Amino acid sequence: MLVRFWGTRGSLPVAPQALPVQAKIARALVAASGKTFANEAEAAAFAERELDFATYGSYGGATSCVEIEGGDQAFFVCDLGSGVREFGLNSLRRCAGGHPRVWHVFLSHMHWDHIMGFPFFGPAFDPGATIVIHAGHADAEEALRRQQEEISFPVPFDWLRARIEFVIHPLADPFEVAGVTVTLIRQHHSHDSYGFHFERDGRSVIYSTDSEHKLDNMESEAAFEAFFAGADLVICDTMYSLGDSVSLKQDWGHSSNIVAVDLCHAAEAKRLVLFHHEPTYTDEDIQRMHAETVRYEELVRGERPALEVLCAYDGLEVEV
Ligand SMILES: [Zn+2]
Ligand SMILES: [Zn+2]
Repeated sequence: MLVRFWGTRGSLPVAPQALPVQAKIARALVAASGKTFANEAEAAAFAERELDFATYGSYGGATSCVEIEGGDQAFFVCDLGSGVREFGLNSLRRCAGGHPRVWHVFLSHMHWDHIMGFPFFGPAFDPGATIVIHAGHADAEEALRRQQEEISFPVPFDWLRARIEFVIHPLADPFEVAGVTVTLIRQHHSHDSYGFHFERDGRSVIYSTDSEHKLDNMESEAAFEAFFAGADLVICDTMYSLGDSVSLKQDWGHSSNIVAVDLCHAAEAKRLVLFHHEPTYTDEDIQRMHAETVRYEELVRGERPALEVLCAYDGLEVEV
């Protein structure tokens, strides 16, 4: 399977502004002082080699949308945040090259940051497209229809041309979609959210966002340990630092980088991806959190095999 991140922010999309971009350029110029480059390619090679990600790159600002390549003859995508606009355009280009026009959407929940991209999802306007929305919530269709009502949006849901189908799945009953086995878990979050476990040919990917883990609720944590067990890749809600999540933002429905590492260690998962970044965090803040998480993992690892910690950004691709 191949996991491709189209949107990695939580709560609200963010756009780059002039001041942080200027600061990145200034840092790059200082790092390159005294050097000369014959052309842009040479300068880009230097930047890639010598500069940190927060200077040379950006984590991006689209909200939750993660593609999982690995289904037979169909696209798989988790959540319909603002990142789904770009994914829609990209997938339609792949359809022009012969890919079947079938999209399976796995919806964690219907908070706005996870559905706001759907009115801009190109395939929904394609009469040849089939879109199947898999959810744990019985009111998933109501939520998608409501955000396109006239008072909020000019194009009503019924004007969409694709064949759109909603499938509501019971908990803990694995089901098969285009050759991939999928299982749901209910997560602690306002109006509930669901995590998804995708498995194919002995490889597994878990998408678990908008999930608050209560450190004092061992029974629920045991269920997550079992759900994450041995996973090759766990995409995890790590919106806050531990300090914030246990003091200021307890009961806000999100989790921390520390809890995610502890859960992945207990489950002997192989790789963790930090996801659903807080919209007020700068690229430097997210980079610092990533570095701190890597250090924490090393400190508490003990005799366990290493857990690789990645940090999601819009455009990241991970082979699983
Ligand atoms: Zn969210
Ligand atoms: Zn939410």
